[in-house]
Amino acid sequence: MSVSSAGNGARQQVFVLVGGTGDLAMRMLWPSLAMLDQDGFLSDDLRIISVAREDCGTEVCVDRIGTAVTKRIGDALEPDTLARLRKRIVHVALDAAHDDWGAKLKAELGDIDRLDIVYFLSVSPSLFKPICEHIERAGLNKAPNRVIIEKPIGRDLATSKIINDSVAHAFDEARTFRIDHYLGKETVQNLIALRFGNIVFEPLWNAQSIDHIQITIAETVGVGERLGYYDEYGAIRDMLQNHLLQLLCLLAMEPPAALSSDALRDEKVKVLKSLKPITAENVLTHTARGQYGPGFADGHPVAGYEAEKGSPSNTETFVAIKAEIANWRWAGTPIYMRTGKCLPSRSTEIVVQFKPLPHSIFGPEAVANRLLIRLQPDEDISLTLMNKAPGLTAEGMHLQSLDLSLSLVKAFDSNGDKPPRRRIAYERLILDALNGNNAQFVRRDEVEAAWNWVDGIVKAWTDTHMKPQMYPAGTFGPVSGYRLIERDEGRTWND
Ligand code: NAP
Repeated sequence: MSVSSAGNGARQQVFVLVGGTGDLAMRMLWPSLAMLDQDGFLSDDLRIISVAREDCGTEVCVDRIGTAVTKRIGDALEPDTLARLRKRIVHVALDAAHDDWGAKLKAELGDIDRLDIVYFLSVSPSLFKPICEHIERAGLNKAPNRVIIEKPIGRDLATSKIINDSVAHAFDEARTFRIDHYLGKETVQNLIALRFGNIVFEPLWNAQSIDHIQITIAETVGVGERLGYYDEYGAIRDMLQNHLLQLLCLLAMEPPAALSSDALRDEKVKVLKSLKPITAENVLTHTARGQYGPGFADGHPVAGYEAEKGSPSNTETFVAIKAEIANWRWAGTPIYMRTGKCLPSRSTEIVVQFKPLPHSIFGPEAVANRLLIRLQPDEDISLTLMNKAPGLTAEGMHLQSLDLSLSLVKAFDSNGDKPPRRRIAYERLILDALNGNNAQFVRRDEVEAAWNWVDGIVKAWTDTHMKPQMYPAGTFGPVSGYRLIERDEGRTWND
């Protein structure tokens, strides 16, 4: 497929990747752009400008990009993809601390009235303000130009407002694309398809039929080189405020009136605003904080968080929360969320645990149905159903549970077809931003409602002096993480 016109009428598209030499760009963004190019999603005349302080020159920059893309994509990379991508790229050395940033970029861009510019700020959020000011001062912010920004958008409500205000000065809300890369994942998008493209789930998708929901994001790695950043944020700000709460919203929201960006995001905001506050009164029963100590994780010995830091720390590397949504659909059905570092396996999964039968004619053999949605390491959706065990027995009918798999990959395997390549989440999001579709990006009121709820939890931790409990690296978090769910009779994590 070849796209000959730019995404915005007759204007030529330009993708300005600020921080084009950084870690995120090399591991995720350039490989995503290469694959979009390979699959024909980029307009033929799209230009890409890489911006960083380093004056490495375009040749060196594209060589590095080639190495990074090859490493990330491997066999799926076609021979002419890199050559095509290289022709689009120019690297420009600009320092956001210098006043001539905007003027120099403008000189590189050419006739800006004929351009449709998408900026991706892959830099520290402390640079969002000066960069947006440079863009605005040089007149490079006018519609349809838009900006993509990455987390962290603040470390609490107050700081997120400062960041959002500084971006809003140059770009209105409709042209501000806040990335939560989980929203670009195929299985996360499939949640919307599963819930709102099928009639079978909706009548059961409520507190009458669902006992509880679990969402786990488990990482095997420790904080590594991100310690400086991480120590300021911890698991609740780094993972729960954004990725976990976004998953919760997609699971719990009401059916939107349309698939349009505001219809979807209006419903997500309502969920966030319905979350019951966690306060000093219930923080001990509704949250668990942990910090990894010495142990063994990801195949390596781990010295422990404080040993890695070299000083004591009150930062949690594990958090578990029992969230309750105060509305008609969900009252009485908790959503347990947990995330942590140095856990025994890398996995992201959602368990929707249905209630037991109101009266079982099969006795205890009839196990309650369960919908398992796995995002990592494999993308898979399966529904556990009860079946009659085949064959004859003297005692009569026996039941067995069977998993009904909705896995795209397995479906292709059984047809003998090659499964589709597993896309990088950023591919979807960059493509949407190029096309001006912001449905899978996070609106400002979503970010702020999420911070508002999380700030309450952090305050409750402070007020009650609740410190992280140590867990050995390579285990599933502290004892308090288990107690959080097992305190509620009959419930346990799906480890
Ligand atoms: P990084 O490796 O430190 O890269 C930062 C980039 O910004 C480099 O290209 C750097 O190049 C450029 N830069 C720094 N200061 C600059 C300045 N004054 N003017 C112009 N360019 C400047 O950071 P990163 O890990 O890629 O992260 C980028 C952003 O994404 C951060 O906000 C981070 O929190 C977020 N993020 C990253 C990841 C990840 O996996 N890495 C994941 C989620 C979110 P020069 O030094 O040559 O200027």
